Amino acid sequence: MADVRVAPEVQDLTRIERIGAHSHIRGLGLDDTLEAREVSQGMVGQTEARRAAGVILRMIKEGKIAGRAVMLAGQPGTGKTAIAMGMAKSLGEETPFAMMAASEIFSLEMSKTEALTQAFRKGIGVRIREETEVIEGEVVEVEIDRPAAGNVAKTGKLTMKTTEMETIYDLGVKMIECIIKEKVQAGDVIAIDKVSGKVSRLGRSYARSKDYDAMGGTTKFVQCPDGELQRRKEVVHMVTLHEIDVINSRSQGFLALFAGDTGEIRTEVREQIDGRIAEWREEGKAEIVPGVLFIDEVHMLDIECFSFLNRALEQDMAPILVVATNRGITQIRGTQYSAPHGVPIDLLDRLLIVSTQPYSPKDLRTILDIRREEEDVEMSDDATELLTRIAAETSLRYAIHLITASSLIAAKRKAAEVDIEDVSRAYTLFIDIKRSVQYMLDYQDQYMYNEIPQGLQNGG
Ligand code: ATP
Repeated sequence: MADVRVAPEVQDLTRIERIGAHSHIRGLGLDDTLEAREVSQGMVGQTEARRAAGVILRMIKEGKIAGRAVMLAGQPGTGKTAIAMGMAKSLGEETPFAMMAASEIFSLEMSKTEALTQAFRKGIGVRIREETEVIEGEVVEVEIDRPAAGNVAKTGKLTMKTTEMETIYDLGVKMIECIIKEKVQAGDVIAIDKVSGKVSRLGRSYARSKDYDAMGGTTKFVQCPDGELQRRKEVVHMVTLHEIDVINSRSQGFLALFAGDTGEIRTEVREQIDGRIAEWREEGKAEIVPGVLFIDEVHMLDIECFSFLNRALEQDMAPILVVATNRGITQIRGTQYSAPHGVPIDLLDRLLIVSTQPYSPKDLRTILDIRREEEDVEMSDDATELLTRIAAETSLRYAIHLITASSLIAAKRKAAEVDIEDVSRAYTLFIDIKRSVQYMLDYQDQYMYNEIPQGLQNGG
């Protein structure tokens, strides 16, 4: 089969390694019966919540809970975002997973509802089946410049030496068009004018005629092989509704997908797309794949957004909404009322709530060990023990930060392994919340707006 995709020359790029906060999470770490393994796929403990997340995943995969919503609620640093990441990893590439922090919707560039609509549509996949004609047979000879320039691929695939990727791509596309339209026979020669791009089929003897030389640098030649040239093949594309929106939005163009600044998309564009997809679904050409939309810090949304979510969840094409919050009873933004997690009761009522629990010292130690390995840091047993105690008394996040800090301190004294002194030094250099609050209480006079809220008066 002639492969008309042309591989560009791959340049070696130096990879800059950035280790994300959740880079160690590779799944939910569940077995086939959805039981959570104690330590698996980078996940540690929090077994109840992980099991619940696994049940939800199974329902998503079986297509049972489109348009439902789940809330991960628990104290800071108890792994809510980590569990959401685990869900994303276990869903696989086929199912869309869109992730955002609620604060991202407050932007001058687009309205809050537009930002939420885009997020929803990023969480809905469309599987499109297309019957295409594929060329079979090898291209035996390709020339893209005058022969003297040496850009000749004698046999095999359409690989050519050039840096002009687009030109090669165009050439490939035009070749196919010509082969299909002109019913090119084995041994024929196709000429593609380099300037006008016109493609034409020439006689078999053409390559040997003197016109060949006369056309020189302005013509590319492709000679086709023996054997069958066409065959039907099914190709499946997986895109999200948002990608289709952007590609069809005339004001944006598909490049906006890479830049990320898609701006607002007009309602008419979306209506047309929905209409077209409904037709494809009826014809059996497309299927909707509901994915997941994860909104972190959901308490940051306001009452308008909550009412939007309520309605959006009822539409027939809706992703599974997973939200996370670490807030207790707090004010609903945009109102004077309070509610559990800062979320109105009517939305709360639709949510399956999964709660995360504080970690035992053993779990903390295992998570710290995993992070340490992830960051490639060697640490003595004493130092890790101290770090675990710090995690229990301050927070897991703070202790995770200290891994990097103390490894830099160890590196400064040219030690290969982080020792207990390095951790203590990092602990004194960077203060945690408790000490920061205490410091503020002690030295409040030296700062502006030094009102001490009730409850902190006694350093509590
Ligand atoms: P917040 O409410 O502050 O947003 P959170 O509950 O979302 O906190 P995470 O960000 O998930 O907490 O956890 C803090 C760090 O600890 C992250 O680096 C996370 O990957 C890691 N972590 C938390 N729980 C686990 C776990 N069960 N297994 C492995 N790593 C975990």
